[in-house]
Amino acid sequence: MPSDNPPVVHWFRRDFRLADNRALNAAAAAGGPVVPVYILSDWKKRHHWTGPKRQHFLCLSLASLSKDLDAMGGRLIFRQGEAVAELEKLLRESGASALYFNEDPDPFGKEVEKKVRALCERLGVECHPFHDHTLHAPDEILTGGGGPYRVFTPYSKNWLNQEKPQKKPGPKTLRTPHKLSSLPLPTVKVWSLDEPKGDLVAAGEHAAITRLDRLIETKITSYGKQRDLPADEATSRISQDLRFGLVSIRTVYAKCAEAMKHARGTSRTSIETFIKELAWREFYFAILHHYPDVLDHEFTPQWRGLPWDEPGDRFEAWKKGHTGFPIVDAGMRQLLHTGFMHNRVRMITAMFLTKDLHIDWKLGESWFLQNLIDGEIASNNGGWQWSAGTGADAAPYFRIQNPWSQTKRYDPKGDYIRKWVPELTHVPAQKLMQPPKDGQPIAEGYPLPIVDHQAERNRTLAIFKKHKNGR
Ligand code: FAD
Repeated sequence: MPSDNPPVVHWFRRDFRLADNRALNAAAAAGGPVVPVYILSDWKKRHHWTGPKRQHFLCLSLASLSKDLDAMGGRLIFRQGEAVAELEKLLRESGASALYFNEDPDPFGKEVEKKVRALCERLGVECHPFHDHTLHAPDEILTGGGGPYRVFTPYSKNWLNQEKPQKKPGPKTLRTPHKLSSLPLPTVKVWSLDEPKGDLVAAGEHAAITRLDRLIETKITSYGKQRDLPADEATSRISQDLRFGLVSIRTVYAKCAEAMKHARGTSRTSIETFIKELAWREFYFAILHHYPDVLDHEFTPQWRGLPWDEPGDRFEAWKKGHTGFPIVDAGMRQLLHTGFMHNRVRMITAMFLTKDLHIDWKLGESWFLQNLIDGEIASNNGGWQWSAGTGADAAPYFRIQNPWSQTKRYDPKGDYIRKWVPELTHVPAQKLMQPPKDGQPIAEGYPLPIVDHQAERNRTLAIFKKHKNGR
């Protein structure tokens, strides 16, 4: 039964879903028409912190959201322009009495929010921001002294002990006023990009739910044992879904908690291990919230001003996956081909860039953000600073992973390497785990290692020690 309540606006940002969407649920509960809007605010810029694969995923997820809104009687309004100006226009055109949105954890999104709150005040429109993207907001998990944690283990203990918020079903129907104009939905062409090719993960809320169900039905009870083996593809693959809010974190947690009820022994510890990874995600959001300058500096002041080498040809070889280190090349090519890289290999490739090639982690951070579909500023910065040894609770600088022994441990049969580096299809596993002894390439067309790991390791230790001692 239509009510006389005035329309309200729901501003979609990185919450491309209908189920368990806090701000959308509240907007629908207001009882009047709902104007769901997405605003592409900086479409003119091709900024260096994103790339075609992630933008393509965004466009497809938006299209899927639009279809789902149509099916429930609503309509996605798509606009391009500066967010505050476009919201002002829409609030005026629709005569909306309130604006609903989920908060953005990134510093840039927070800046826009400040202006949007001021806009609402100026227009006399109610403003309803919601915390949605993590189970616990950064200010909920604090030390006994009331400050932020800088180390993961005590943070995670506190995080695990807190009661978790419940998921709620989404609205069944929505009414959107007819008169409002909408632009055609975007494709990557708006950024003058070509549609990406490769083996890309399916976009949209339905695909995300399928991935989550698959995790719960077939992967989660062996996650603990297999998650570090990239060839097994045993991880959840939900990172881009959390990045774009295709599934709520409360839904993910609720499904894990349900699976836990039926699990015993190693299956149970496996689920616990998975949940701890969700805590890592929230730890890095908390770090970014409390220490936003991690985007510009090393988290640990001691490591600021380290002397990095000029990037040059070695950086190009790393980006293309032509370093002559099979595990590094496999990871970098997986990234180029799919917009994804397995976590273990992210650590190996990141440590290789910073400790074997002595190249600034910020360049790697930016390359990952341009290429990862799940590119998430907080986790990416956290992962890079962990690998470089400069971050919150990072690997100590002297713990330098050896790409050859990492291969032996995590890709013992070489299946992951062969999948992504076709030149190595017929090379026996043993040869993928050590530098070539005879100085000859291990396969035709495959480069010799561009550096000697042992020598570069020693150089890194010397650089860090010298910096530490202030010399
Ligand atoms: P699963 O192993 O199934 O984990 C489940 C979820 O937990 C992930 O989807 C993710 O949301 C979270 N998670 C797992 N590990 C971590 C972690 N170490 N830090 C933070 N969250 C974690 N993750 C991103 O989502 N976006 C990034 O841009 C990103 N960049 C990274 C860069 C580097 C150098 C490193 C070392 C790690 C990075 N990670 C990033 C973390 C991690 O590699 C990915 O979250 C994970 O590989 C995604 O695959 P999955 O969903 O199958 O993970």
